[in-house]
Amino acid sequence: MSLLVVGSVALDSVETPFGNVQNALGGSAVYISTSASYFSAPIRIVAVVGGDFPKKHLKFLEKRNIDVDGLQIIENGKTFRWGGRYHYDLNMRDTLYTELNVFEKFDPIIPEGYRKSSYVCLGNIHPALQRKVLQQIAKPRLVIGDTMNYWIENTADELKKTLKVMDALVVNDSEARLLTQEPNLYKSARRIIEMGPKIVIIKKGEHGALLVTENTVFSAPAYPLETINDPTGAGDSFAGGFAGWLAKTDDFSPENLKRAVIYGSTLASFCVERFGVERLEDLTYLEIKDRYRSFRELSQFGEES
Ligand code: AMP
Repeated sequence: MSLLVVGSVALDSVETPFGNVQNALGGSAVYISTSASYFSAPIRIVAVVGGDFPKKHLKFLEKRNIDVDGLQIIENGKTFRWGGRYHYDLNMRDTLYTELNVFEKFDPIIPEGYRKSSYVCLGNIHPALQRKVLQQIAKPRLVIGDTMNYWIENTADELKKTLKVMDALVVNDSEARLLTQEPNLYKSARRIIEMGPKIVIIKKGEHGALLVTENTVFSAPAYPLETINDPTGAGDSFAGGFAGWLAKTDDFSPENLKRAVIYGSTLASFCVERFGVERLEDLTYLEIKDRYRSFRELSQFGEES
Protein backbone atom coordinates (compact mmCIF):
# COMPACT_ATOMS: atom_id res chain seq x y z
CA MET A 1 0.00 0.00 0.00
CA SER A 2 1.28 3.47 -0.85
CA LEU A 3 2.04 5.91 1.96
CA LEU A 4 2.14 9.68 1.52
CA VAL A 5 4.12 11.66 4.11
CA VAL A 6 3.80 15.43 4.46
CA GLY A 7 5.85 17.46 6.94
CA SER A 8 9.10 19.31 7.47
CA VAL A 9 12.50 18.56 5.96
CA ALA A 10 15.15 20.32 8.00
CA LEU A 11 18.78 20.89 8.72
CA ASP A 12 19.08 20.28 12.47
CA SER A 13 21.83 21.34 14.84
CA VAL A 14 21.52 19.38 18.05
CA GLU A 15 23.50 19.28 21.29
CA THR A 16 23.05 16.57 23.88
CA PRO A 17 25.22 15.69 26.90
CA PHE A 18 26.79 13.04 24.65
CA GLY A 19 27.82 15.08 21.61
CA ASN A 20 26.46 17.30 18.89
CA VAL A 21 25.70 17.52 15.17
CA GLN A 22 25.51 20.55 12.89
CA ASN A 23 23.14 20.89 9.94
CA ALA A 24 22.23 17.24 10.01
CA LEU A 25 19.33 15.88 7.97
CA GLY A 26 16.13 16.12 10.03
CA GLY A 27 12.51 17.20 9.99
CA SER A 28 9.30 15.32 10.69
CA ALA A 29 8.81 14.08 7.10
CA VAL A 30 12.34 12.66 7.04
CA TYR A 31 12.00 10.68 10.27
CA ILE A 32 8.49 9.45 9.37
CA SER A 33 9.33 8.36 5.84
CA THR A 34 12.70 6.79 6.71
CA SER A 35 11.16 4.72 9.51
CA ALA A 36 8.16 3.71 7.36
CA SER A 37 10.47 2.70 4.51
CA TYR A 38 11.49 -0.40 6.48
CA PHE A 39 7.98 -1.77 6.04
CA SER A 40 6.17 -0.53 3.00
CA ALA A 41 6.58 0.91 -0.47
CA PRO A 42 6.11 3.21 -2.22
CA ILE A 43 6.67 5.98 0.30
CA ARG A 44 6.09 9.46 -1.11
CA ILE A 45 7.24 12.66 0.51
CA VAL A 46 5.75 16.14 0.05
CA ALA A 47 7.80 18.89 1.67
CA VAL A 48 9.95 21.90 0.78
CA VAL A 49 13.69 22.66 0.91
CA GLY A 50 15.93 25.47 -0.36
CA GLY A 51 18.67 25.47 -3.00
CA ASP A 52 21.17 24.92 -0.17
CA PHE A 53 19.81 21.44 0.61
CA PRO A 54 22.77 19.05 0.22
CA LYS A 55 22.46 16.52 -2.58
CA LYS A 56 23.76 13.79 -0.25
CA HIS A 57 20.57 14.12 1.80
CA LEU A 58 18.46 13.57 -1.32
CA LYS A 59 20.57 10.50 -2.05
CA PHE A 60 19.94 9.24 1.51
CA LEU A 61 16.17 9.40 0.95
CA GLU A 62 16.41 7.81 -2.50
CA LYS A 63 18.56 5.01 -1.10
CA ARG A 64 15.72 4.24 1.31
CA ASN A 65 13.41 4.01 -1.74
CA ILE A 66 11.56 7.19 -0.78
CA ASP A 67 10.02 8.93 -3.77
CA VAL A 68 11.14 12.59 -3.66
CA ASP A 69 9.29 13.85 -6.75
CA GLY A 70 6.98 15.78 -4.42
CA LEU A 71 9.86 17.48 -2.60
CA GLN A 72 9.72 21.12 -3.72
CA ILE A 73 13.14 22.74 -4.14
CA ILE A 74 13.08 26.55 -3.98
CA GLU A 75 16.43 27.31 -5.62
CA ASN A 76 16.76 30.87 -4.28
CA GLY A 77 15.56 30.02 -0.77
CA LYS A 78 17.07 28.50 2.37
CA THR A 79 16.07 25.20 3.95
CA PHE A 80 14.21 25.18 7.30
CA ARG A 81 16.72 25.06 10.17
CA TRP A 82 16.11 23.97 13.73
CA GLY A 83 18.48 24.01 16.68
CA GLY A 84 17.94 22.23 19.99
CA ARG A 85 19.82 21.48 23.19
CA TYR A 86 18.96 18.58 25.49
CA HIS A 87 19.44 18.62 29.24
CA TYR A 88 21.09 15.90 31.31
CA ASP A 89 17.54 14.55 31.62
CA LEU A 90 17.01 13.83 27.93
CA ASN A 91 13.26 14.37 28.31
CA MET A 92 13.94 18.11 28.55
CA ARG A 93 15.04 20.17 25.60
CA ASP A 94 15.35 23.84 24.73
CA THR A 95 14.72 25.03 21.22
CA LEU A 96 17.67 27.29 20.43
CA TYR A 97 16.27 28.60 17.14
CA THR A 98 13.63 27.89 14.51
CA GLU A 99 14.43 29.43 11.13
CA LEU A 100 11.41 28.63 8.99
CA ASN A 101 12.92 29.99 5.74
CA VAL A 102 11.18 28.27 2.75
CA PHE A 103 8.96 26.32 5.17
CA GLU A 104 7.17 29.55 6.14
CA LYS A 105 5.34 29.67 2.77
CA PHE A 106 5.05 25.90 2.31
CA ASP A 107 2.10 25.08 0.09
CA PRO A 108 1.61 21.31 0.01
CA ILE A 109 0.73 20.67 -3.62
CA ILE A 110 0.20 16.95 -4.02
CA PRO A 111 1.54 15.71 -7.37
CA GLU A 112 -1.05 14.01 -9.61
CA GLY A 113 0.62 10.61 -9.19
CA TYR A 114 0.33 10.80 -5.37
CA ARG A 115 -3.39 11.63 -5.20
CA LYS A 116 -4.52 8.05 -4.87
CA SER A 117 -2.19 7.24 -1.94
CA SER A 118 -3.87 4.70 0.35
CA TYR A 119 -2.25 5.88 3.57
CA VAL A 120 -1.47 9.44 4.58
CA CYS A 121 0.78 10.49 7.45
CA LEU A 122 0.54 14.17 8.28
CA GLY A 123 3.59 15.45 10.12
CA ASN A 124 3.49 18.42 12.36
CA ILE A 125 2.41 21.35 10.12
CA HIS A 126 -0.32 24.01 10.38
CA PRO A 127 -3.65 22.15 10.82
CA ALA A 128 -5.21 24.08 7.92
CA LEU A 129 -2.40 22.81 5.66
CA GLN A 130 -3.00 19.27 6.92
CA ARG A 131 -6.62 19.64 5.74
CA LYS A 132 -5.48 21.11 2.45
CA VAL A 133 -3.44 17.94 1.86
CA LEU A 134 -6.46 15.74 2.52
CA GLN A 135 -8.65 17.76 0.15
CA GLN A 136 -6.30 16.71 -2.66
CA ILE A 137 -6.34 12.97 -1.88
CA ALA A 138 -9.01 10.60 -3.14
CA LYS A 139 -10.43 8.63 -0.17
CA PRO A 140 -7.35 7.36 1.69
CA ARG A 141 -7.72 4.13 3.70
CA LEU A 142 -6.21 5.77 6.81
CA VAL A 143 -5.12 9.27 7.79
CA ILE A 144 -2.60 9.44 10.64
CA GLY A 145 -1.67 12.82 12.05
CA ASP A 146 0.57 14.57 14.52
CA THR A 147 0.40 18.03 16.04
CA MET A 148 2.24 20.07 18.67
CA ASN A 149 1.73 22.53 21.53
CA TYR A 150 2.16 25.52 19.22
CA TRP A 151 -0.87 24.58 17.05
CA ILE A 152 -2.96 23.54 20.07
CA GLU A 153 -2.37 26.94 21.67
CA ASN A 154 -2.47 29.21 18.63
CA THR A 155 -4.78 27.57 16.08
CA ALA A 156 -7.26 25.66 18.24
CA ASP A 157 -10.27 26.11 15.93
CA GLU A 158 -8.36 25.00 12.83
CA LEU A 159 -7.03 22.00 14.73
CA LYS A 160 -10.53 20.97 15.85
CA LYS A 161 -11.67 20.95 12.21
CA THR A 162 -8.65 18.85 11.20
CA LEU A 163 -9.17 16.34 14.01
CA LYS A 164 -12.62 15.61 12.57
CA VAL A 165 -11.01 14.28 9.38
CA MET A 166 -8.13 12.35 10.99
CA ASP A 167 -8.47 8.62 11.66
CA ALA A 168 -5.51 8.34 14.04
CA LEU A 169 -3.79 10.94 16.18
CA VAL A 170 -0.29 10.42 17.56
CA VAL A 171 0.60 12.94 20.27
CA ASN A 172 2.79 13.07 23.34
CA ASP A 173 1.45 13.22 26.88
CA SER A 174 1.81 16.98 27.37
CA GLU A 175 0.11 17.67 24.03
CA ALA A 176 -2.79 15.35 24.93
CA ARG A 177 -3.28 17.11 28.28
CA LEU A 178 -3.14 20.53 26.67
CA LEU A 179 -5.56 19.58 23.90
CA THR A 180 -8.19 18.15 26.24
CA GLN A 181 -7.50 20.04 29.48
CA GLU A 182 -7.60 16.62 31.14
CA PRO A 183 -4.67 15.50 33.30
CA ASN A 184 -5.60 11.78 33.28
CA LEU A 185 -4.13 10.37 30.05
CA TYR A 186 -6.68 7.61 29.62
CA LYS A 187 -9.57 10.07 29.96
CA SER A 188 -7.68 12.46 27.71
CA ALA A 189 -7.46 9.79 24.97
CA ARG A 190 -11.21 9.19 25.30
CA ARG A 191 -11.86 12.93 24.89
CA ILE A 192 -9.71 12.98 21.75
CA ILE A 193 -11.80 10.12 20.32
CA GLU A 194 -14.88 12.33 20.84
CA MET A 195 -13.10 15.03 18.80
CA GLY A 196 -12.75 12.79 15.72
CA PRO A 197 -9.85 10.29 15.53
CA LYS A 198 -10.96 6.68 16.13
CA ILE A 199 -7.41 5.68 17.10
CA VAL A 200 -5.43 7.67 19.66
CA ILE A 201 -1.83 7.04 20.61
CA ILE A 202 -0.27 8.96 23.46
CA LYS A 203 3.53 8.75 23.57
CA LYS A 204 5.06 8.96 27.02
CA GLY A 205 8.76 9.14 26.16
CA GLU A 206 10.77 6.75 28.31
CA HIS A 207 7.50 5.43 29.77
CA GLY A 208 6.20 3.94 26.54
CA ALA A 209 2.95 4.57 24.68
CA LEU A 210 -0.79 4.20 25.24
CA LEU A 211 -3.14 3.09 22.45
CA VAL A 212 -6.84 3.78 22.91
CA THR A 213 -9.71 3.06 20.52
CA GLU A 214 -13.43 2.66 21.13
CA ASN A 215 -12.90 -0.94 22.29
CA THR A 216 -9.13 -1.35 22.89
CA VAL A 217 -6.69 -0.13 25.50
CA PHE A 218 -3.07 -1.17 25.13
CA SER A 219 -0.07 0.01 27.09
CA ALA A 220 3.30 -0.53 25.40
CA PRO A 221 6.54 -0.30 27.36
CA ALA A 222 9.54 1.71 26.19
CA TYR A 223 12.57 -0.36 25.30
CA PRO A 224 15.22 -0.14 28.04
CA LEU A 225 18.26 1.14 26.14
CA GLU A 226 21.78 1.45 27.48
CA THR A 227 22.81 3.98 24.87
CA ILE A 228 20.72 7.03 24.05
CA ASN A 229 22.57 9.77 22.24
CA ASP A 230 19.91 11.99 20.69
CA PRO A 231 16.12 11.83 21.25
CA THR A 232 15.38 14.09 18.24
CA GLY A 233 12.87 12.50 15.90
CA ALA A 234 11.81 9.72 18.28
CA GLY A 235 8.15 10.76 18.06
CA ASP A 236 8.22 11.00 14.27
CA SER A 237 10.03 7.66 13.98
CA PHE A 238 7.28 6.17 16.12
CA ALA A 239 4.65 7.59 13.74
CA GLY A 240 6.63 6.28 10.74
CA GLY A 241 6.96 2.76 12.13
CA PHE A 242 3.28 2.73 13.10
CA ALA A 243 2.10 4.04 9.70
CA GLY A 244 4.54 1.85 7.76
CA TRP A 245 3.40 -1.33 9.48
CA LEU A 246 -0.30 -0.54 8.89
CA ALA A 247 0.39 0.34 5.24
CA LYS A 248 2.23 -2.98 4.84
CA THR A 249 -0.50 -5.08 6.45
CA ASP A 250 -3.67 -3.04 5.71
CA ASP A 251 -5.29 -4.54 8.80
CA PHE A 252 -6.94 -2.38 11.48
CA SER A 253 -7.84 -5.19 13.88
CA PRO A 254 -7.04 -4.49 17.55
CA GLU A 255 -4.21 -7.08 17.51
CA ASN A 256 -2.62 -5.50 14.46
CA LEU A 257 -2.92 -1.99 15.88
CA LYS A 258 -0.98 -3.27 18.90
CA ARG A 259 1.71 -4.69 16.60
CA ALA A 260 1.89 -1.31 14.84
CA VAL A 261 2.43 0.41 18.21
CA ILE A 262 5.30 -1.98 18.99
CA TYR A 263 6.87 -1.44 15.56
CA GLY A 264 6.54 2.31 16.13
CA SER A 265 8.25 1.94 19.52
CA THR A 266 10.93 -0.24 17.92
CA LEU A 267 11.81 2.37 15.28
CA ALA A 268 11.82 5.13 17.91
CA SER A 269 14.18 3.08 20.08
CA PHE A 270 16.66 2.68 17.22
CA CYS A 271 16.40 6.35 16.24
CA VAL A 272 17.62 7.65 19.61
CA GLU A 273 20.69 5.40 19.74
CA ARG A 274 22.69 7.73 17.49
CA PHE A 275 22.49 11.34 16.32
CA GLY A 276 19.96 12.48 13.71
CA VAL A 277 18.97 9.77 11.25
CA GLU A 278 22.36 8.00 11.50
CA ARG A 279 20.98 4.84 13.10
CA LEU A 280 18.13 4.62 10.61
CA GLU A 281 20.64 4.51 7.77
CA ASP A 282 22.19 1.11 8.33
CA LEU A 283 19.40 -0.54 10.28
CA THR A 284 18.36 -3.98 9.01
CA TYR A 285 14.94 -5.62 8.96
CA LEU A 286 16.43 -8.47 10.99
CA GLU A 287 17.44 -6.06 13.77
CA ILE A 288 13.90 -4.63 13.76
CA LYS A 289 12.40 -8.12 14.05
CA ASP A 290 14.79 -9.04 16.89
CA ARG A 291 13.89 -5.96 18.88
CA TYR A 292 10.18 -6.50 18.22
CA ARG A 293 10.57 -9.94 19.80
CA SER A 294 12.46 -8.48 22.78
CA PHE A 295 9.56 -6.06 23.25
CA ARG A 296 7.20 -9.01 23.59
CA GLU A 297 9.35 -10.60 26.25
CA LEU A 298 9.61 -7.35 28.18
CA SER A 299 6.03 -7.44 29.39
CA GLN A 300 5.10 -11.11 29.23
CA PHE A 301 4.47 -12.85 32.51
CA GLY A 302 3.02 -16.18 33.52
CA GLU A 303 -0.32 -17.16 34.96
CA GLU A 304 -0.62 -17.24 38.75
CA SER A 305 0.08 -20.83 39.87
P1 AMP B 1 10.59 15.44 17.52
O1 AMP B 1 11.88 15.17 18.22
O2 AMP B 1 9.81 14.20 17.20
O3 AMP B 1 9.80 16.51 18.18
O4 AMP B 1 10.96 16.03 16.08
C1 AMP B 1 12.09 16.79 15.86
C2 AMP B 1 12.10 17.27 14.41
O5 AMP B 1 11.07 18.24 14.25
C3 AMP B 1 13.41 17.95 14.08
O6 AMP B 1 14.06 17.20 13.08
C4 AMP B 1 13.03 19.35 13.61
O7 AMP B 1 13.65 19.70 12.41
C5 AMP B 1 11.53 19.31 13.43
N1 AMP B 1 10.87 20.53 13.88
C6 AMP B 1 11.19 21.32 14.94
N2 AMP B 1 10.34 22.37 15.03
C7 AMP B 1 9.45 22.26 14.01
C8 AMP B 1 8.34 23.03 13.54
N3 AMP B 1 7.97 24.17 14.15
N4 AMP B 1 7.65 22.59 12.47
C9 AMP B 1 8.01 21.45 11.85
N5 AMP B 1 9.06 20.69 12.20
C10 AMP B 1 9.78 21.07 13.27
